[in-house]
Formats: sequence, structure tokens, C-alpha cells
Amino acid sequence: MINTVDKLLCNGILNKEELIALLECNDTQTNGYLRECAVKKRLEIYSNHVYIRGLIEISNICKNDCYYCGIRKSNKNCSRYRLKKEDILSCCKSGYNLGFRTFVLQGGEDGYYTDEVLCDIISSIKSEYPDCAVTLSLGERTKDSYKKLYDSGADRYLLRHETANADHYSKLHPAELTLRNRMDCLKNLKEIGFQTGCGFMVGSPYQTIENIAEDLLFIAEFKPQMVGVGPFIPHTDTPFKNEPAGDADLTCKILSIIRLMLPNVLLPATTALGSVEKDGREKGILYGANVVMPNLSPENVRDKYMLYNNKLSSGAEAAESLNLLKESMKKIGYETVVSRGDYKINN
Ligand code: SAH
Repeated sequence: MINTVDKLLCNGILNKEELIALLECNDTQTNGYLRECAVKKRLEIYSNHVYIRGLIEISNICKNDCYYCGIRKSNKNCSRYRLKKEDILSCCKSGYNLGFRTFVLQGGEDGYYTDEVLCDIISSIKSEYPDCAVTLSLGERTKDSYKKLYDSGADRYLLRHETANADHYSKLHPAELTLRNRMDCLKNLKEIGFQTGCGFMVGSPYQTIENIAEDLLFIAEFKPQMVGVGPFIPHTDTPFKNEPAGDADLTCKILSIIRLMLPNVLLPATTALGSVEKDGREKGILYGANVVMPNLSPENVRDKYMLYNNKLSSGAEAAESLNLLKESMKKIGYETVVSRGDYKINN
């Protein structure tokens, strides 16, 4: 299997069978070598720097009913909130003072945020903080809408593809949500010029190892600037409440594979990884991730943006405790930096 890792290292790609074999491989030596190669690549390109993003969860109101998600429309136990422009700008203000130079606006698909409302928010953030990047993660919109958001100053867009297999997609979403539309959205975002992020959950219900290989092949072909991968974690008020959580070790292994497929990719050690295992976020960094996204939402709404049970939003996961995060990164030999942390094109 060491040869397979070398092949991935040299070519940045493997075929489906090889990916499945690598994903299934339990050999400590091979897995250790995979991690070493991924970390080496990451250090070559991004040094030991860890980019920080201030995550502002702008609304948990959502018109969609994704079976895995705690803020799905049908969840009557979810106490709903939405942030107004002033709230968001005040998050940016505290974030800026803490050293954040990227703000990520994430939320459910909430009809309140028309193009007009969002463009106004984005252009205000960009004019107050011209040295900052704005990332959006607001789900599926039309190409025309994405273009308006881009033109008002948004730099990046995260839209996980969730699974590259249409059949699997239909087991995670109601019929009105299709893989076809998700993929069209991703293509549109990239065409418009956004630094674009896709990604998926590890261990989502009905996922097979073959599905993960398909996700990786899609990522290799799509060449996104960002990839978000974290373990699935059940939420009590969803149809998947009794499903097991995804595996942290497999998630980390996948991070290493992605680092070798797309050496320059911006790859977060996700909150879900930190939530499923103690020191999960640090582990993600040690397997090739180079981004962390602490929570910058107003404190009184943090426990309401509950995508899954026991989602971390305190301690080093909280933006105001950036010093804790810095310390934990320093302990493992990495350094958080005050920078927009853009995708590196050359190298
Ligand atoms: N509405 C936006 C943001 C969704 S939340 C959108 O559609 O892109 C961001 C990500 O959280 C989702 O893409 C999904 O992959 C992840 N997520 C949702 N529920 C989860 C769960 N139960 N466990 C782990 N991750 C989850």
C-alpha cells in the first residue's frame, strides 16, 4: 500500500479501486506514511500557519428539510433566530479586534436574506474592513443571485456537495433537493469567480466506502479552493437520531488524502471533528488541515445553531477565546496568523 500513497503523492490522483483500498487499509505504517506526506505538502505550501475564520451563524431559519440537519424546517423544537445587519456588523467588529480577517456568514436558507439585504450587508462589511475577506455559506441560490453577491464584494462561497452519488443524495434529502442542482450551483459559483468550497460528511447514513471514493474523485476533478469535511453527528430531533456518528480517524485520513490530491487547498479542521473527539481539531491539523473556524456568533444564539448534538461553541471553539486556540496550536507546533489567508495559486 505504500506504493499507492507514493502514487497519490506523485500524481495527485488515484483510481476508484485504489482509493477504496487506501480508505480500507488498516496498516499503521501505510496510514502513518500517508499522514506524513500530507503534512509535508502542507508545510511546503502554507508553512506551519493556521488560518482562522470568524464564523457568524446568521440564521437558523431554513426552508429545507435535510434529514441530517438539526435546523431543518420540520424541527419544531428548534428555537429560531435571525441576525440583522447591525448584529452581523457588531460580530465583525469584535472579530476584527480579535485578529480575524475572514468572516464567514453561514445560515439556513432563510428567505429574509434577499439579494438586496445580503448585498447591503456584504458591501458594508467590505467598506468597513477592506482588508478582510467575506465568505458566504448560505445554500443554493440562482446564478444571478450568486453574481450579485460576488459583485457586492463577497470573496468565497462554501457549499458542501454532501455526497457525489445521486442515489445517496436522495437518501439524505427530500425529493425537491437534487444533486444535479447542488452541482450546478457549485459550477456557477466557480464560473463567477468565487473561491469555492465543496465537501461532505464522513459516516453520513447509507454512505459506503465507495461513496467516499466518489466524493474524492469529484473533489479531484472539480478542484475547489476549499474543502469542508467533518464527521456526521446525529441530532435528536431528526430522522437520523439513532444513527451512529462518523469516525474521527477516518475523517483525518480523508483530510490527508485531500491534501495530497489538492496540495494548495484550504482545508478546515472542522467544529464537527472537534465535537466528536477531544482534541479532534488539533488532530485535523496534524493530518494536513490548515484552517480553523471559531464561532463568532453572538453568545445568546450560539446554542440555537445546533446542526447536531453537542456541537462545540465554547472554549477554544469560541472566537473570544482565541488565545486558547493559539495556545493549543502552538503546543502542536503550529501558528495562528492574522491574515485573510487566501488560496495560494502558485507553488
Ligand atoms: N444552508 C447552508 C449551510 C448548511 S450548514 C448550506 O446548505 O450549505 C453547513 C454544513 O453542516 C452542511 O453542509 C452539512 O454538511 C453540515 N451538517 C449539517 N448537519 C450535520 C450533522 N448532523 N452532522 C455533521 N455535519 C452536519
